Amino acid sequence: MNRALNFNAGPAALPEWALKEAQNELLNFRNTGMSVMELSHRSKDYEAVHNEAQSLLRSLLSISDEYEILFLQGGASLQFSMIPMNLLQEGQTAYYTLTGSWAEKALQEAVKVGKAEIAVSSKENNYKNIPVLDATSIPSDAAYVHITSNNTIYGTQWKQFPTGLNVPLIADMSSDILCKPLNMEQFDMIYAGAQKNLGPSGVTVVIMKKELLERSSDSLPTMLNYNTHAKNNSLYNTPPTFGIYLLSLVLRWVTDQGGLEAIEKKNELKASLLYNEIDNSNGFYNGHAELDSRSTMNVTFTLNSEEATKSFLAQAKEAGFVGLNGHRSVGGCRASIYNAVPYENVERLAQFMSDFRKNY
Ligand SMILES: *Cc1c(COP(=O)(O)O)cnc(C)c1O
Repeated sequence: MNRALNFNAGPAALPEWALKEAQNELLNFRNTGMSVMELSHRSKDYEAVHNEAQSLLRSLLSISDEYEILFLQGGASLQFSMIPMNLLQEGQTAYYTLTGSWAEKALQEAVKVGKAEIAVSSKENNYKNIPVLDATSIPSDAAYVHITSNNTIYGTQWKQFPTGLNVPLIADMSSDILCKPLNMEQFDMIYAGAQKNLGPSGVTVVIMKKELLERSSDSLPTMLNYNTHAKNNSLYNTPPTFGIYLLSLVLRWVTDQGGLEAIEKKNELKASLLYNEIDNSNGFYNGHAELDSRSTMNVTFTLNSEEATKSFLAQAKEAGFVGLNGHRSVGGCRASIYNAVPYENVERLAQFMSDFRKNY
């Protein structure tokens, strides 16, 4: 069977090894005579999976004991609400960097809960770049600063995270977590829906400083209070056990690839295949992102006319490429090349782009 040339933005390609491992163990998980989906979430066998996922994440990102690792549900989108509900207190202001559609959505939810303002924005520039955040513009009594490390829809990515802030820094890393080494100490909280770089949809990873937990009010609904999940090792209610199992397999795969340094090198090579084709196309392909803000995860581009773009997408589909349409809100083309997308598939796309250009 041929695996598809999958460039979906999310849910997205998973490492073939992880899928095969799941297949091998599907009916009889580690001699239990049951699928991992059929295990009690209170059983020792499941607990081992849950704890392995946590400890692999802890070691890949060098996360110290000062941080909790939570496995939640509701996607990154529920975090847009939970963050202000738990961490934005009466009389405080939260600051949001507007770098794309997901950042806008995060801000919209914060405004429903309390006082939230735009710290800096690249909206006027059609989100082509990551703006500079001037740390001195953020008051030291602010609740937190929120950034979106990779803008999935526009194809931009922070290259240097803001420094010099005296307030907690929170990042939505849904579309680039584990794409490269991270200095976790720079962040008080990061979070990611799993379906781009971590596993299947249904699990959301939240990594947060324990001291932030003190902010949550007891009057919050139980399931929306981070303390509930922190106190119960994310087992207050039934967690998405199969998703966490697949997450543990993906984390093993990342570890076996040589960890985040090796993953970063491979991601840079993959991205440069496509960006080189764009840059050497004499304007046939136009990259959306400015050069210093280009994402290694989502490569966004247009062709010179609607007609050329349509023809490109139709021929690409014919040739077996999946998921190259840009997000419905921006149009054009987007190739999502997350960790699990094989180098060879990106090479084939770059070749296809080159051939299409020459033949068009
Ligand atoms: C996909 C995505 C989201 C939304 O994630 P859900 O899990 O569907 O809620 C949020 N932020 C970013 C940066 C994303 O890429």
